[in-house]
Amino acid sequence: MVYADNAATTKMSRTAVAAMLPCMEETWGNASSLYGFGQKAKEALEAARAKVAACLGASPGGIYFTSGGSEADNQAIISAAHLGAKKGKKHIISTAFEHHAVLHTLKKLEQEGFEVELLDVHENGRVSAGEVSAAIRGDTALVTIMYANNEIGSVQPIAEIGAVCRERKVLFHTDAVQAAGHLPIDVQKQNIDMLSLSGHKFHGPKGVGVLYARTGIPLENLIEGGAQERGKRGGTENVPAIVGMAAALEEACAHMDENMAKVQALRDKLIGGLRRIPHSVLNGDEKHRLPGNVSFCFEGIEGESLLLLLDDKGICASSGSACTSGSLDPSHVLLAIGRPHEVAHGSLRLSLSEENTEAEVEEILRAVPEVVEYLRGISPLWKDKVIGKREFLLPESYR
Ligand SMILES: *Cc1c(COP(=O)(O)O)cnc(C)c1O
Repeated sequence: MVYADNAATTKMSRTAVAAMLPCMEETWGNASSLYGFGQKAKEALEAARAKVAACLGASPGGIYFTSGGSEADNQAIISAAHLGAKKGKKHIISTAFEHHAVLHTLKKLEQEGFEVELLDVHENGRVSAGEVSAAIRGDTALVTIMYANNEIGSVQPIAEIGAVCRERKVLFHTDAVQAAGHLPIDVQKQNIDMLSLSGHKFHGPKGVGVLYARTGIPLENLIEGGAQERGKRGGTENVPAIVGMAAALEEACAHMDENMAKVQALRDKLIGGLRRIPHSVLNGDEKHRLPGNVSFCFEGIEGESLLLLLDDKGICASSGSACTSGSLDPSHVLLAIGRPHEVAHGSLRLSLSEENTEAEVEEILRAVPEVVEYLRGISPLWKDKVIGKREFLLPESYR
């Protein structure tokens, strides 16, 4: 099997598994219990907090463990919005291509009377700090812009946006789920007030994540309960998962440069090969791009068919279209960067990790052109284009 869907989830690292086992077999007590056995679990929990904090340039007091990236996004945005509303600020700035954990939370806030302004991300999938600055008003409660996009891989100028928000005294949250463990993050230097990350996107376990919140930002509870996480997130702490996530993040950060170099070389080989397919286009910025992200649209095919045929060849990939979620709408991300519906339907995302090999990339480069050609061959729409009855939407050879 060739696994090229690391933006969806990653395989747990040996380091993460090894860190988790003693938490399940030996120090499995309740971290809130007062006896020594429980306190051992508490020690492991706090050591994990310190590790995560160190990887983000944060203080341990700013780290809150959650059930994942989605919960962290929800809690950050709802907290900042309601904090703003107390001061009469009900304007929120974001972008049109955020993850649904952000977009759906913003939709809910709109129903509560907040005004949500989604900035244009342009064809390259980026927004400038100047555009953020121009959108900030006296009543802006929050700017929430993702660090790197999960579908097309474009990386935002986070430090510049952070500087603008700090200068204008507006809270800045970033969904850094795709960036954490893959790109350098420093919440102090980048002026990030709140940040979300998720364990399973950097070879840690699923169902665990982090919300970072700068000291002094009062969080609103999504889960009421005990006094865990300094009273901000009820529920007995999932110590094994938290410890596994911290170990995975520490490992990813320690090897970041070498992993980036390796994965980027594989990515660029894939991009170079796939852009030879006629009537194709690369999605996302070429330079400001996640090390492992390859995203293309191929005119005249359906992404779902492409995925199924690649699966037959043992290749795990993803498409932007949200067919799996029961809707036939093309990806909101691809529409946000201006791809026409028809083109957006023919998307393919390959996301690599340092576990992938050059031989696997070559296998993908043999399979994809073959499958695209086959699917075009059986498409009546494509035939119409070839005989000139319909217009091609993408140029034959790559720009
Ligand atoms: C995966 C992902 C999430 C959701 O994280 P979970 O831990 O799966 O809830 C949020 N944002 C982005 C950008 C993601 O890629």
